[in-house]
Amino acid sequence: MPLIVQKFGGTSVGSIDRIRSAAARALATQRAGNDVVVIVSAMAGETNRLLALAGEISPLPDAREVDSLASTGEQVSAALMALAIQAQGGKARSLLGHQLKILTDSAFSKARIKAIDAQRLHDTLGQGTIAVVAGFQGVDDAGNITTLGRGGSDTSAVAVAAAVGAACEIYTDVDGVYTTDPNICPTAKKIERISYEEMLELASLGAKVLQIRSVEVAMKYGVPVHVRSSFSDAPGTWVIGEEQSLEKVTVTGVALDRNEARVMLVGVADRPGIVAQTFGALARENISVDMIIQSPSVHAIQPGSDEGSIRTTDVTFTVTKADLPRAQHIMESLTAAVGAREVRYDEDIVKVSIVGLGMRSHAGVAARMFELLAAERINIEAISTSEIKISCLLATKYAELAVRALHDGFGLGANT
Ligand code: ADP
Ligand code: ASP
Ligand code: MG
Repeated sequence: MPLIVQKFGGTSVGSIDRIRSAAARALATQRAGNDVVVIVSAMAGETNRLLALAGEISPLPDAREVDSLASTGEQVSAALMALAIQAQGGKARSLLGHQLKILTDSAFSKARIKAIDAQRLHDTLGQGTIAVVAGFQGVDDAGNITTLGRGGSDTSAVAVAAAVGAACEIYTDVDGVYTTDPNICPTAKKIERISYEEMLELASLGAKVLQIRSVEVAMKYGVPVHVRSSFSDAPGTWVIGEEQSLEKVTVTGVALDRNEARVMLVGVADRPGIVAQTFGALARENISVDMIIQSPSVHAIQPGSDEGSIRTTDVTFTVTKADLPRAQHIMESLTAAVGAREVRYDEDIVKVSIVGLGMRSHAGVAARMFELLAAERINIEAISTSEIKISCLLATKYAELAVRALHDGFGLGANT
């Protein structure tokens, strides 16, 4: 029998009524002749509420206990979903991460899935039962509960689909992947088909409609992903291999990331090893760094002063806002060792990016992006590029303006 994995996000299980309609959809899919695995997120707002509780107790709470706490949101949804399916005459069984055995590494709050017990799933499905799996959570070798990072239920869904060779449907509060966040830009257009590569960039640059790791897993195992609305039957967006996606347009989408924070080490001694020491310390704590810029220090050294012969540089980088407290802690212990004059932190920034496979073969895309931002008098604080994307760091107040200017400026809008 064909097997379909259906994932329902926070809004789609945000109330008992919505859980009922998701349950009805899963049952209808089963009646149409499929085995069904449902993956659920926590009810909308629940994960934030749980994390805030931990934050009330400590600014740097123990990572193992935070995961144990944060995973409970999905446990509630899974049990309620199973009850809703049963109430509509179906058979259902909820499975938590450790019951299904979604084995992960031990990186709390950002664990990676290592293996999934597919046999356990097949055993459950064998009796005409819908398996309801709690998303976002797993278990490590030592039996600790782990979580997969914010938005991680998408990854649970795609990984389960890969493990059992199923297609994956992601039900959410928009009816597909758009050229930019439709909640920010009213002219955003739904994309019919998008390549894994472009979706990977959009997701990693802030389009939270799919978690980045879910796209990595989909690409690695060739899982076709259909992103669609839980409130309608409209066809959504297919995320698929590059060869099957549409023509390679220069700019496919615009993404906004509000989750970055900037750290600036001012007046660091300009000698070998300093940068390695700084980023080594962050890596050991599992903190990922995004943009990195090294430039001559803003502190001009007076000719003739004692320091006249010492060259210094400023090292600027970005981390996620969630990692900032830990990064701050590390920087404070490092300031003396790297000889930094001062460390500055800035959370009032966003990253706006354009993504498109066609950039590989088109010149002048970056120049056009900078012109469009300049026309709105938006100052660019930092730039980074790859083969198929360009990102600019800006002050938060320009976020929406920049997204709309780039979106419509590159002709992506419904009426441009
Ligand atoms: P869920 O709770 O179902 O996982 P999310 O809130 O994580 O849903 O993701 C859906 C949201 O992603 C949308 O409401 C939308 O605001 C946002 N989003 C950002 N960029 C895009 C995009 N390019 N296309 C569609 N949605 C996007
Ligand atoms: N509940 C988790 C979160 O809010 C996971 C998810 O929704 O995908 O991040
Ligand atoms: Mg999500």
